[in-house]
Amino acid sequence: MENVHHLKMNLRSLRLPGVLDNLEVRLTEARENQLGYLDFLSLLIQDERSQRDCNQIQKLLRSSRMGLEKTFEGFDFGFNEKAFPKNVLNDLRTCDFVNLGKNIVIAGPPGIGKTHIAKALGHEACRRKKRVFFSKMNSMLTELQKKTNIGYERMLRKVFAADLLILDDFAFRKLQTNEVELLYEIIDERQGIKSTILTSNRPVQDWLGVFPDPVMGGAILDRLVSGAYKLIVSAKEAESYRKEGLFGNKK
Ligand code: ADP
Ligand code: MG
Repeated sequence: MENVHHLKMNLRSLRLPGVLDNLEVRLTEARENQLGYLDFLSLLIQDERSQRDCNQIQKLLRSSRMGLEKTFEGFDFGFNEKAFPKNVLNDLRTCDFVNLGKNIVIAGPPGIGKTHIAKALGHEACRRKKRVFFSKMNSMLTELQKKTNIGYERMLRKVFAADLLILDDFAFRKLQTNEVELLYEIIDERQGIKSTILTSNRPVQDWLGVFPDPVMGGAILDRLVSGAYKLIVSAKEAESYRKEGLFGNKK
């Protein structure tokens, strides 16, 4: 008894909560099943590993700012399947695109699931220990113009360093020159190394129109779009999930 007490104190001071929390259960299990020393120790170390992984993923999810709600577990793959084929989504879900530093462009009419898919992919990336940062394109540029804001430096670092940057509602409005300069810096620095997902309600061919200078706009779009995986959906190909909510229980 005294030994267990002493052991627990050490586990606490060594910060091994996964071992500490599971110690009693594993001891009982080991006695009942006459586990060998090595098996017993391996189980406890695995407990510690699992708990640390879980904590790390929770931290990455919180830091991503994308919320916890929109995942592939809560995604109806049968809805708009033509626009978003299940096999394509499942391929993207492996997050190989993040390892390859490739981008994804998801464009199409409102309500069809673009943001849901982007967040679900972000979620998958966090589960694979990737740093994700989600923001509406508009609010990212607005926030990053306020250089005196507390948290400005932190946000800037996150935007540059994220393994996966999700810019929701890209090309939503006309951009200012200073915003375009900042966007160019971000995109150019990340190009080919880190991934970006863009979602937009506007057709890709209209995107250039939001840039005051077409040369700068072209340079940014070229980096973002060429070589990206594209899920480009026309109004005929997909329905809004929100509309169903008027009659069914979806929203
Ligand atoms: P978009 O970004 O294309 O405008 P959203 O991704 O915001 O659309 O989708 C609108 C709403 O419908 C959200 O609440 C989203 O979770 C839900 N939704 C869209 N498509 C699906 C789907 N296939 N399965 C489950 N929920 C969906
Ligand atoms: Mg959206």
